[in-house]
Amino acid sequence: MKKVPFVTKAQIEEIVKTYPTPFHIYDEKGIRENVKALYDAFSWNPGYKEYFAVKATPNPFLMQILKEYGCGSDCSSMAELLLSEAAGITGHEIMFSSNDTPPEEFAYCEKLGGIINLDDITHIEAVEKSVGYLPETMSCRYNPGGYFKMSNGIMDNPGDSKYGMTEEQIMKAFQIMKEKGVKHFGIHAFLASNTVTNEYYPMLAKVLFELAVKLKEKTGAHITFINLSGGIGIPYRPDQEPNNIHVIGEGVRRVYEEVLVPAGMGDVALCTELGRYMMGPYGALVTQAIHEKHIHKEYIGTDACAANLMRPAVYGAYHHITVLGKEDEPCDYLYDVTGSLCENCDKFAVDRKLPRIEKGDYLFIHDAGAHGHSMGYNYNGKLRSAELLLKENKEVQLIRRAETLNDYFATFDCFEIGKKLLKS
Ligand SMILES: *Cc1c(COP(=O)(O)O)cnc(C)c1O
Repeated sequence: MKKVPFVTKAQIEEIVKTYPTPFHIYDEKGIRENVKALYDAFSWNPGYKEYFAVKATPNPFLMQILKEYGCGSDCSSMAELLLSEAAGITGHEIMFSSNDTPPEEFAYCEKLGGIINLDDITHIEAVEKSVGYLPETMSCRYNPGGYFKMSNGIMDNPGDSKYGMTEEQIMKAFQIMKEKGVKHFGIHAFLASNTVTNEYYPMLAKVLFELAVKLKEKTGAHITFINLSGGIGIPYRPDQEPNNIHVIGEGVRRVYEEVLVPAGMGDVALCTELGRYMMGPYGALVTQAIHEKHIHKEYIGTDACAANLMRPAVYGAYHHITVLGKEDEPCDYLYDVTGSLCENCDKFAVDRKLPRIEKGDYLFIHDAGAHGHSMGYNYNGKLRSAELLLKENKEVQLIRRAETLNDYFATFDCFEIGKKLLKS
């Protein structure tokens, strides 16, 4: 499918008068249409809820847009809990799917009334110690081990994943927690990442639903929700067939009716913790071409770098690039599009066919709305860029300012040189 930017060159030329490149920009209209479609696809399940995976795009403005449709947040750190609180998302609107969790974070989650999703059986004791008791509602994360296979081959390798409990452990955890007064239970699993197939959720649902029936039969626990977590992916490449959320919703419904309903569990609420699917396509990194270089290859140097979007550098991930204003020109040049880090992996694209790029052109790097700005870092003293929201009425709102050198130097306040730098 042809990838079309959600802004035009003319719009960007207007925006850069106030907010210089590089910046991340998000498309409010796209975000809203997508979350509506998600809720529609699962509307057959009365308790359905999406807990947005905050780590994908930790911005309270965006979290509040999702909240309007009923989304809560899936957190796994103190900062993410605080962001949720700031966005007005508290109580059972928070799912705390953390791992290797520091004690004070369990305590803060309980203070906000969030649901603790235990990554390990030993964390029962950790929660009792840090919170002082076990909350009435608890969830456990499951890891079936082995390989997770679908019709088109191996999807992922849970046997090699650090998350979750074995079946035996989860049985025992439920028994222990039930004895200690826990009343409502949830189960959770995340078995494959960025799946671009309508099969993943239905297959995962079957694994979790069958486990839920066993847990209920063996422990008598009241299972109130089943959490399908994240993992629904997006087509980063134009030749990939996008997921169809309605087909996915119907696929899960079939398994629900096949496994849960006959077991008398037709009241179980489903939830999801999607991150990439909620924001990925609706955010872009906009950067300007500032250099061109002709050596053994053709290079276009931009004013951004992997510190703004690290997926290409660390995973070799493909992000589609549109040269704004040249959407219809033939892609008859072969470029490496680079960032400015002193690391040769800092390339947004390698051997990419693009229209002829001139200095000053704006590049729209697609699908940077999730795990984009959020993975930013300060290597080489690079600063994180601003985040902008393109509103439905086409106005642009600054939803996070760009970092300044003062932000970078703030943590040197313990040294004389730091104090000097902060003053200047
Ligand atoms: C990362 C993560 C998600 C979101 O994953 P996506 O692939 O972005 O949908 C959900 N739940 C947990 C526990 C995660 O770690």
